[in-house]
Order: sequence, then C-alpha cells, then structure tokens
Amino acid sequence: MSFSTRQETVIRGVPVSPGIASGPAYLLQHAGIHLPISTISPGQIESELARLENAWTTTVQQIEMIRANQKGDERQLVNDIIDIHLMLAQDIPVYIGGRIEELVRNDLMHVETALNTALQELLERMTKSPFQRSEDVADIGHQVLSNLVGMNLDQFENIDEPVIVVADDLTPSLTVRLPQGKVLAFVTARGSRTSHTAIMARAAQIPAIVGVPDLLESVDEEDFLIVDGDRGVLAIRPAEETVQRYRRIQEEAVHRIEALEHFRDLDPETTDAFTIPLAANIELPEEVISVKQYGGHGIGLYRTEFLYMNRRDLPTEDEQFLAYRKVVEESAPDPVIIRTLDIGGDKFPSSIRMPKERNPFMGWRAIRFSLEQPEIFHTQLRAMLRASIYGNLSIMFPMISEVREMKLARAAFNQVRDQLRAEGVAINDQIQVGTMIEVPSAALVMDGLLPLADFFSIGTNDLIQYTLATDRGNERTAYLYDPLHPGVLRLIRNVVSIAHQAGKKVSVCGEMAGSIEFTLILVGLMVDELSMSPIAIPGIKRLIRSISYEEAVGIAEKALAMNEPEEIREYLLSETRRMAPWSADLLSMDSRPASA
Ligand code: PEP
Ligand code: MG
Repeated sequence: MSFSTRQETVIRGVPVSPGIASGPAYLLQHAGIHLPISTISPGQIESELARLENAWTTTVQQIEMIRANQKGDERQLVNDIIDIHLMLAQDIPVYIGGRIEELVRNDLMHVETALNTALQELLERMTKSPFQRSEDVADIGHQVLSNLVGMNLDQFENIDEPVIVVADDLTPSLTVRLPQGKVLAFVTARGSRTSHTAIMARAAQIPAIVGVPDLLESVDEEDFLIVDGDRGVLAIRPAEETVQRYRRIQEEAVHRIEALEHFRDLDPETTDAFTIPLAANIELPEEVISVKQYGGHGIGLYRTEFLYMNRRDLPTEDEQFLAYRKVVEESAPDPVIIRTLDIGGDKFPSSIRMPKERNPFMGWRAIRFSLEQPEIFHTQLRAMLRASIYGNLSIMFPMISEVREMKLARAAFNQVRDQLRAEGVAINDQIQVGTMIEVPSAALVMDGLLPLADFFSIGTNDLIQYTLATDRGNERTAYLYDPLHPGVLRLIRNVVSIAHQAGKKVSVCGEMAGSIEFTLILVGLMVDELSMSPIAIPGIKRLIRSISYEEAVGIAEKALAMNEPEEIREYLLSETRRMAPWSADLLSMDSRPASA
C-alpha cells in the first residue's frame, strides 16, 4: 500500500533541538523481552547466576565502547551522560544483586525474571524517594536484560540512507548509539526539554521534537517527514505547498546565515531610531560563543540549573564561581543576568532530594526552594558575587510571587554580600539585583516589588501557563497556551508601565521574545530588551529594523483594546507583513506555540 496519497498531517510537539530536516521515517520498535515464568531446577542455580554476571560485564563493556567512540569536545555532555551510565551499570548490581540471588536460589526463578522483578522493586522505591534517575536505571536494566536474552541492542544497523528516527521514547542509551551522519532528526511521543535525550540531541546538533501527541498512530514506516526543530512542528506526508514553504524557510535560514555577518554589527534599531537591545538565553557557559556569532548583546537569562543536572553531587562554590566567571568574562563588556536556581516544575537535578508533588509547577519550585535551602542558595549567591568583578553581572530571582518573597531573597543577598565584604573578598558594589515576573500575582503587585528590584524580566513561558491555567507542557490543552491572550498582554503592559514610572527597565526572556510573530506587540508594549535563544537573534533584529517604534506603540494600544486572541493575531500579522514584507512566509506558519 502506498501512503503517498494520504493526507498531510501536521502535529506540534516540544522543540528541543533546533534546525529543519526532511526525509523518510524510520520507526523504532521497542521489542518486548520474553520473561520465562517457569522455574529452574536447583542444579541450574549457579549457571543462571553466572549468566547474569556475564550480562553485567558485557553491558559495562558496551558502554565503555560507546564512550571510546565519542569524539570532539562538543560531545562532553554526551560523555558525562555515558559516565553516569557506566557508574549506574557498576552500582545497580550492588543494590539489587542480593535480591536477585535470593529470587534465583529460593524461588528458583530464571535470572531474567529475577532481574526484572528486583529492578521493578528498585524503580518503585525510586519513584517513592525523590531521586530522579529512574529513567537511566530502567535503561541500564533493559540493556542487561537484552544481553541476557541475546537481543541485539543496535537497532540502527539496517539504516542505509539518512532517516528521521521516530520512536515512542528514545532512551539515552539508544541516543548515544544513533549512527552519526545517518540520522537527520528525531521525533518522540514522550520526553521533555530537560531529558538526557534532548540534551544529547542539542549536543549532536540533530533537530529534535519530543512530546508529539499521537505520534506512533500518525506515522508509517518511510512516510516522508519534515521536522521543524525550531518551532516544534512535525509535518507528516507534507503537501506540496508545505514542502515549498519549508524550502523557502530553509533558503531563508541559509540567507539568514549569510546575512549574519551583515546583521551582527548592526544595531537592533527601529526605522525611527529606537534601540531595543537583544540579549541571549543560555544554559551552558559554552554557549557564549554563539551569542557573539549571532550578534547578541550579552546574556539576558543564564539558567543555572544545568550546573546541577547530570551529576550525583552538588556543584561547589568554586565550580560555580568558575562557570559564572567564564560567562561574565567572555561576555564583557556586555551585561550578563544570572538567574538563581530554578529547580522543580520540570527540572529535577539528581543531587537534590525533592518530594514528589501532585502539581510540581505550582509546588516547591525556584525561589521557594532556595529560600528554604539557605546553604544551597547562599553558596550560589557567593559564587555569583565573587564572579561579579569580572564583568557586568546582575542577579535575578525566579518565580517571585509576592513582596515578602522578594524581601527574603534580597535579605539573603545582603547577608551573603556583607559576609563576603567582612572576609575581604572583592565584589562589585554596584551589582544590580532584579526579579523575574512570571507569576500573575507578581505582575499585579509591581508597586510593592518596585523598591526591591533594580530591574524586571518577564518570563512569559510561565506567565502564560499560570495566567491561562494551562500547563506549558500539556499537548492536550496547548491550544489555550496563547501569548496573544489579552490577559497576558495586559499583565505585560502593567509591569512595563509601573516599572517605567520608577525609571526601571523591563525585559522579556520567555520563548515569546524569540518569535517574530510577537516582536511588533512586544516593541509596542515598550519592553526595553528582549532575550532569546541565540539563533533567533538575527531574525528578530531584522524585524526590529523594519518597524517604526511610534507605529508599534499605536498598534499595541489598539490590540490591547481587543478581547479575542485571534483578532489580535490577525491584526498583528497584517501589520507586521505590511512593515516587513520579507517576513510573510515565516509568519504564515501558524506559530502559536503548542508548548513552551
Ligand atoms: C519563563 O518562564 O519564561 C522563563 C524564561 O523561565 P523558564 O523557561 O526557565 O521557566
Ligand atoms: Mg520560568
């Protein structure tokens, strides 16, 4: 049966690794492993246990082999993850070896079944305890089981032509086996932005989308796919028109790279000479280079969570200091805003015990966590303050929801600053301390926050989800997640107008800032700076250079009087097209995010 005549399907997921790729689908099937329910005879006990011993050794050797085949500095993250796997492959037998032996000796279980039982018990204990390493433990367990039953772990052997890998989920161990050069992109039904798989996709520079609803029901083997890792769009059996549009977008991307040189040294200045600095969001110190390449003006959001991820212990003060110093020094004289730890929600470092919560996005997250963990919080603030003399560093707090929280956060900052002074450590006395505005209540108590913050940065990813009561990662309610909802726009306007009365600046650092669909309204709302993923900077700069500030302010005023997001969208799109005709193709994609 040929599928070429079947209709195009477009699904949105979570973009986790940028770039656009097209090619045939390669469906990765998770072959089930047969677990014998019969028992063994007592005479088989020793040979069963020896089989397990061999399977563990083989697994360790396989992981070491993958480790040895990694090349290049950019694979550092991948190597770190492989190291964790190696460590787990050596540690897990210590935890469950006794239990497996008991099941084999006393219950005469086959060793596969005993391993699986002990592993499930361990995973059960892990989900009750807050350690978040269960994905990797299950992955290692599956590898050992596969070795026990002689199943080939290399599911990519048969790939001859470059393909787009489609899977329910890609375990980290499968991701490190992806044959280089043969995988154009990958798409999974599950997974999150911070999963190891997503991190590795970025490290390997393969476009990727995760969390795609109904994926396996919608794609057939060898279906032609377009994966848009910038916007999280998957086009299955795309119509000719979609193919053409993506061709133009890819040409535009090439053009963008060519134009990079040109735009890098130009100011993000409107046609009536108003400048809106464009900064970058980064997660790793290594990204500073790309900020410069894309012509960004410093770092508007340095998410520090990654320093705490993929490791067993907490980063020390010195380790953090070195990372912050590198970012600040390499960015100087441009400014860098470092955000204190924002864990919880969808980010769970394995080194920190966090309780399981019913609703982690509304739970013990970000500043709520830091204020109750002064040791972790103060260590981070000390490292930041020590790095402050190496360039232009500011500090901001995530998830502030009330004035009292901001007072406590500032008090912690003052305490650490005074302590460092007493120790005679050099720090920048002029350091600015600001807050993110990403909870609606904070946007509504701006007058109370005003004296406590030197600047404000609006985190639209969270502000939208909390204002519209729609989880930023939930595909089912993604249609409600609309940055152009008047409720969101009016909150932004409130923040800007109150901050400006006191002469303080407001930036926007959520994903909204990096999409040309929203540039006109954000400029019109008089936001002072935009911070986005480095790759988005040239496009936003080009758009800003096409529009008039005065007109944008008038347009925003009119848009704010509208009550329907769709009406606002239509209006903004037509005005943007009018001022920047070159943006028409890019805008014609429905860029309403499916999730942040
Ligand atoms: C935001 O919420 O918009 C933001 C920038 O923070 P994060 O995406 O890290 O939650
Ligand atoms: Mg946020």
